[in-house]
Amino acid sequence: MTDKGDKEILEIVQVGDPVLRATAKQLSPKELASRDVQKLIAVMRDTMRAAPGVGLAAPQIGVSLAIAVIEDTAEYQKGHAPERLAAFERTPVDFHVIVNPVLRFVGHEMVEHFEGCLSFASFHMVVARSRKVHVDALDEHGKPISIDASGWYARILQHEIDHLNGIVCCDRMDPRTLCTGENFPRFCAGKSAADVKSIVGRSKLT
Ligand code: ZN
Repeated sequence: MTDKGDKEILEIVQVGDPVLRATAKQLSPKELASRDVQKLIAVMRDTMRAAPGVGLAAPQIGVSLAIAVIEDTAEYQKGHAPERLAAFERTPVDFHVIVNPVLRFVGHEMVEHFEGCLSFASFHMVVARSRKVHVDALDEHGKPISIDASGWYARILQHEIDHLNGIVCCDRMDPRTLCTGENFPRFCAGKSAADVKSIVGRSKLT
């Protein structure tokens, strides 16, 4: 744990820790309203922002509870060309909390893009995700919320809710596209997932 001013920032658990493989526990309304859980949500928000990341699930700070925080600011998106943002269907998403989420795919369209994970060092990998999803959850106050999302936001929701089910993005990746953070800008910058897949080829394992 580090302190940045008055903020408590926790270390992010890395893949290999069993907490990332457990099914996170659902919260009762009383548990959600407790001071401890409200404090946990604030620490998750500050830890996500410090990373920085666009989403963080409680297991990623070692707490097996069904809570995730999400925020994809215009500031984060500034470094990407407008055509890339359009290709990713990525638009700003305000900070929000999802508790006990239930996700379902909407339609059958799957899209492939590179993604990374704060619990997977700086690796990038191509992951196929549903283009559209619907999520029912509670907000941090215990109020039921319904989310219809598409594009990058739908990807973030799928990634974070996977964490609550003990799934890490490497479980869903095309393994031949796994790329270190150092090599990603060298070999993959500006390329689509399809471009990179055509370069790395298909698995020759039998
Ligand atoms: Zn992750």
